[in-house]
Amino acid sequence: MSTSSSSTTRARVLIVEDAPEYQIVVENSLTDEGYDLYSVSTIDAARLKIDAWQPVVVVLDVGLPDGNGVEFCRQIRSDQSAYVLLLTARDTEPDMLAGFAAGADDYLTKPFSPNELRARVRALVRRSGATAKVTGKPTTLQVGCLSLHPDSRVVEADGAQVDLTATEFGVLQRLMTRPTMVFNRSQLIGSDDEHWGSSDHTVNVHIANLRRKLDHAGHAHIDTVRGVGYRLSTLEP
Ligand code: CA
Repeated sequence: MSTSSSSTTRARVLIVEDAPEYQIVVENSLTDEGYDLYSVSTIDAARLKIDAWQPVVVVLDVGLPDGNGVEFCRQIRSDQSAYVLLLTARDTEPDMLAGFAAGADDYLTKPFSPNELRARVRALVRRSGATAKVTGKPTTLQVGCLSLHPDSRVVEADGAQVDLTATEFGVLQRLMTRPTMVFNRSQLIGSDDEHWGSSDHTVNVHIANLRRKLDHAGHAHIDTVRGVGYRLSTLEP
């Protein structure tokens, strides 16, 4: 276990890796990036640290002594806002798909280059910064060709206004605050939204309507991640 000095302004990055040689590689790769780093080697320790420390990014090994990182990633996704970068020993498509289905934002296959890791983590921290800005006060969200203005409740695709119901607006707003995240239905519902019915069918209908309007506007759509939920997909400029 190791720490650097803490600061409220620095992005917190948790490293979950049981192999000392890889833990050192990850720490050394990230040490000059200005993050607050903390390393643990088990899922149990990671769970406690995430709850107490609220890291913005978790670098998560798949093979851990007390469980599977992919499964733990799914748990993080269900109740935490941290971005997850999976470290996998195997570069096979099923593993990659399992990782993304579990809500991982990115993944790297061992052995990886320190530069590659640095770039991936930097990208995730940058996204988390965008998230922090939108949660503070109403600010225009911009993802690909889509912009959403919480104050005026206007959505535009490529500058053309898209006419949405209040419920559809709420769903899109949630999707746009975390453009890479796969949301399950209960995460999309939101506790304060009386427009939602409780059934999966109701959610599906709202998603279908939103999808039709966005597809019509072009360049943006909502992906279904089988068995998990929904994710925004846009063509990046
Ligand atoms: Ca391992």
